[in-house]
Amino acid sequence: MPTERASIAVRRTRAAAKLRQRGFGALLASPGSDLFYLTGYQIFPSERLTCLVLDPDGRATIVCPEFEAPRVVAAAPDIERRTWGETDDPYAVVAALVLASGPLAVADQMWAAVVLKLQAALPDRPFATASDITRELRIRKDAAELEALRLVSESADRAYARMLGRVFAGRSEREIGADLADLLRSEGHDEVGFTIVGSGPNGASPHHEIGDRRIADGDTVVLDFGGAMRGYRSDITRTVHVGRTAGLENQKVHDVVRRAQEAGYAAARKDATAESVDAAARSVIDEAGYGEFFIHRTGHGIGLDGHEHPYLVRGNQETLEPGMAFSIEPGIYLPGRFGVRIEDIAVIDPDGSVRPLNRADHAFATVA
Ligand code: ZN
Ligand code: ZN
Ligand code: ZN
Repeated sequence: MPTERASIAVRRTRAAAKLRQRGFGALLASPGSDLFYLTGYQIFPSERLTCLVLDPDGRATIVCPEFEAPRVVAAAPDIERRTWGETDDPYAVVAALVLASGPLAVADQMWAAVVLKLQAALPDRPFATASDITRELRIRKDAAELEALRLVSESADRAYARMLGRVFAGRSEREIGADLADLLRSEGHDEVGFTIVGSGPNGASPHHEIGDRRIADGDTVVLDFGGAMRGYRSDITRTVHVGRTAGLENQKVHDVVRRAQEAGYAAARKDATAESVDAAARSVIDEAGYGEFFIHRTGHGIGLDGHEHPYLVRGNQETLEPGMAFSIEPGIYLPGRFGVRIEDIAVIDPDGSVRPLNRADHAFATVA
C-alpha cells in the first residue's frame, strides 16, 4: 500500500533527524520490532545477518543474505539492499556502510552474538541502544498503527466471546490454552504469543501460563492471551468462573478489580501522568482492603512489542499523549486461593480522551 510505505519512510526521516541531533553515526537494526517499524520488513532472527543501516542523512540500506533479497524487495521495495553470499563476511558489509562518525545505535533486541561481531567489525565505536532514538517515535502511534491495534484487539475480543461457549470443567489448563490459541488464529491472528490460563490457586500467579491442572466446578479462571496480526500485538485478560455460582469472596474481588479498572480508565487522558492511572486503579483496591495483593504495575505500552513504553507504574511521571497505546490491567492475587485480573488495551485519541480497543464484556462470566 503506497500510503503505508510513505508513513514508514517518514519514520526513517524522523529517526535520521534524531541521529543527527544526537551525533550518532548510524542506527543498526537486526530482525525485531525496530527493523519492522523502520522498514516494514519482518523476518525471524537467525545466525545469518540481516541488518538495516540507517545513516544520519536518512540513507537506508538493508544488508541481507542473497537468497532473502526477493523477500526484502517485496516488503520494502523503496529501500536499497546490499546482499551477501554464504561465504562472505556480512559484518564487513555493514561496517563499510557506516560512514559518519559517532556512536552506533543498535536495536535493543539485537542478539548479543550479533552486537559482539559488529563491535569487532567497527572497533573504537561506542555502542548505544537504539531505543534512545526509536522510543520517542514508537511511543506515539500513527494512524496506520492505531488501526492495526484496533483490528488485532477486536480479533482477541471475538476469540474471548467464542471461548465463553466452551466447556471448562473437567478439562486441563493446557486444553483451554490450546482452544484460545485456535480461536485467536481463526479470528485473524497470524501469531499466537501467549496463553495464560490460571485456574483456581494457579490464578494467584499473574504469569502462570498453562499446566496440567484439571479445571473443576467452582473454579475462578484467569484467561490472559494475545498474539499479533501483521506485527501489531493484542493482550486481553478476563476472569471467568466455572459452574453456576461463584464464591462470595470471588464475586467481591472480581467487583473490586472491575471498579479499579474503570478508575484507571477514568484517570487516563491526555496530559495525565502514567503513574496517576496506576494510582487511580490502586486506590480502589487499597480502599477495599486488598492493596497488598495487587502485586504488579497497572499497565504497559503495546504496539509491535507486547510490552513497551509507556509503563503505567508509580514513579513514571511521563504524560499520556495522543497516539499512545497501553494496557489497563489491575489484579488481585490471593495466594493458595485464586486470582482476578481484567485487562484492556486503550489508546489516547487526538482529542485527548481515552478509547478502549477491547470491548469484550467485563462481567464475571459463567462458563460450563
Ligand atoms: Zn503481564
Ligand atoms: Zn495480558
Ligand atoms: Zn498486559
